[in-house]
Amino acid sequence: ARPVVAIVGRPNVGKSTIFNRIIGDRLSIVEDKPGITRDRIYGVADWNGKPFSIIDTGGIEIDGEDVILKSIRMQAELAIEEADVIVFMCDAKSGVTQADEEVAQILYRSGKPVIVAVNKVDNIERSDLIYEFYAFGFGDPIAVSGSHGTGVGDLLDGITDNL
Ligand code: GDP
Ligand code: MG
Repeated sequence: ARPVVAIVGRPNVGKSTIFNRIIGDRLSIVEDKPGITRDRIYGVADWNGKPFSIIDTGGIEIDGEDVILKSIRMQAELAIEEADVIVFMCDAKSGVTQADEEVAQILYRSGKPVIVAVNKVDNIERSDLIYEFYAFGFGDPIAVSGSHGTGVGDLLDGITDNL
């Protein structure tokens, strides 16, 4: 079976935008289960001859209190179970948030390779915004822009180095 890569992170950081950049038009499965709405979107990709499956974990929603935090925790936990490599997506514009810290806590326990991708680095002036993401301790953050497509090749290099 192909190795599995999961994109996790709090809402609105750009997970789906980057997912679409990576898979292009090769979307394979959309799984939709009742109850907890789990719209897991799986795609297939390959980079430098290395094929992998990729999951956009963003579509999970739960009703009730602390909706966002619960759903972030849950998608991170699902990703840990299924993934061989985890892309931890963050947002340069907002910087590190409490919700990012929550995700990081779960990912520390995973023992799986985690790549920090800092999205919305849309121009050179924003390059410096990635430095605070070193504090997670997952290694060098990779600057990307879903809007422009910049940095996606570097992210794919980081992913395939860990497959
Ligand atoms: P998700 O909730 O993490 O899946 O995030 P989405 O991919 O749905 O994106 C959330 C919002 O951020 C949308 O309004 C996107 O257009 C915007 N967005 C995504 N990537 C970028 C980027 O690289 N730069 C900027 N400025 N906005 C972006
Ligand atoms: Mg999404």
